[in-house]
Amino acid sequence: MDNQVSTSRIQKDMEMFEGFTSTPGQGITRLPFTIEVRKCVNLLAKRMKSAGLAVREDSAGNLIGRLEGRNPDAPALVIGSHFDSVRFGGNFDGMAGIIVGIEIARMLRDAAVTLRNPIEIMGTHDEEGMRFGTGFFGTKAMMGEVDGDYLHRFKDADGVSIYDAMICYGLDPVRIKEAARDYKKEIAAFLEVHIEQGPVLGNSGLNLGLVNCIVGMQRYIVTVTGRPDHAGTTPMDMRIDAMDCASKIISQVSDWAKQAGGNGTVATVGYAQVMPNAMNIIAQEVSFSVDVRSKDQASIDYIVGKMHAELERVCGEKGARFTVSEKLRVPPADLDEKLLAMLAQSCDKLGLSYMRLPSGAGHDSLQTAPKIDTVMVFVPSKNGRSHSPAEWSEYSDLANAACVLYDTLLTNFQ
Ligand SMILES: [Zn+2]
Repeated sequence: MDNQVSTSRIQKDMEMFEGFTSTPGQGITRLPFTIEVRKCVNLLAKRMKSAGLAVREDSAGNLIGRLEGRNPDAPALVIGSHFDSVRFGGNFDGMAGIIVGIEIARMLRDAAVTLRNPIEIMGTHDEEGMRFGTGFFGTKAMMGEVDGDYLHRFKDADGVSIYDAMICYGLDPVRIKEAARDYKKEIAAFLEVHIEQGPVLGNSGLNLGLVNCIVGMQRYIVTVTGRPDHAGTTPMDMRIDAMDCASKIISQVSDWAKQAGGNGTVATVGYAQVMPNAMNIIAQEVSFSVDVRSKDQASIDYIVGKMHAELERVCGEKGARFTVSEKLRVPPADLDEKLLAMLAQSCDKLGLSYMRLPSGAGHDSLQTAPKIDTVMVFVPSKNGRSHSPAEWSEYSDLANAACVLYDTLLTNFQ
């Protein structure tokens, strides 16, 4: 093998970032526009610089380290993933892809290879959507899909908008459009290495996963409003019980996903809030999330259609009101066949086993795939665990992913 990957270098880098969490001892909590993200980004910038990259932060807070190619006008090959996390998450989700990217830059430097195209290692901001209920903020901004209205629309649990959070973090929200790339001219491909976050690849015993499509996602907050009354003195036929209505909807969500059938179709109510949340008061208001994903847009439409129809019916019968607020809408995306074939060829050459598989989780690649040639490489997750402190992937598997991408770059872009 003519590459000089260093597993220990990858491990050392990964371990450096374990401390940037607001929940030490309970996994990684690194929410967007916080001090933990700022410290993480500062260290990432240092690691990128020492790998020989020219580093800049864009107006959305994405971090970009660039290595020029032989042709200064050629579009860049962007290797990226996210540096924010969920609450009580693991150290591999997102960061693995950035660190593998930095390792690839070091491999190019060590081998004194200059590619035809520039490469950019990118750390993206607020992919998870943990704080503002939306997601893919950094890549959306890069694709030109975030404007001032968007920044005001989404607020965290304390009522802080993205706009205000950006100011506290040291970014100028008025300049958000400057993060938008002229991607047709500037970006040749988006390549993302990510942990699988599920059990399929790990159970297969294969080295790597080549992701051929990513499920589409739609996410809603539904609020059902009834009337708060005494739980003891109000007869059953004189109540407008928000909990009764909401639970009748919530209990059907899984059934709709099963009815819609395969294609990775899933639907989840993972969040609920009750007002006033007291044992002796009929619920005035119940808010809950509905998260729908599928490779098949028709299946997503089926579930969302059922949700609206049943809300109309159930709330209509009981005299309750409801609102549905859409938080996220991303269509399913096929990844680039040409890049997949290049990666498969590199795997074969390096003697690494692989499978093609879809991704059931959303990723930055979901944002770029409709407009930029995009591909993802999965590394196995131990026991399929993710979004948990138990999340783990082997450093040697991250090194394998680095080798495959490096070989693909050298073979096709030198
Ligand atoms: Zn992730």
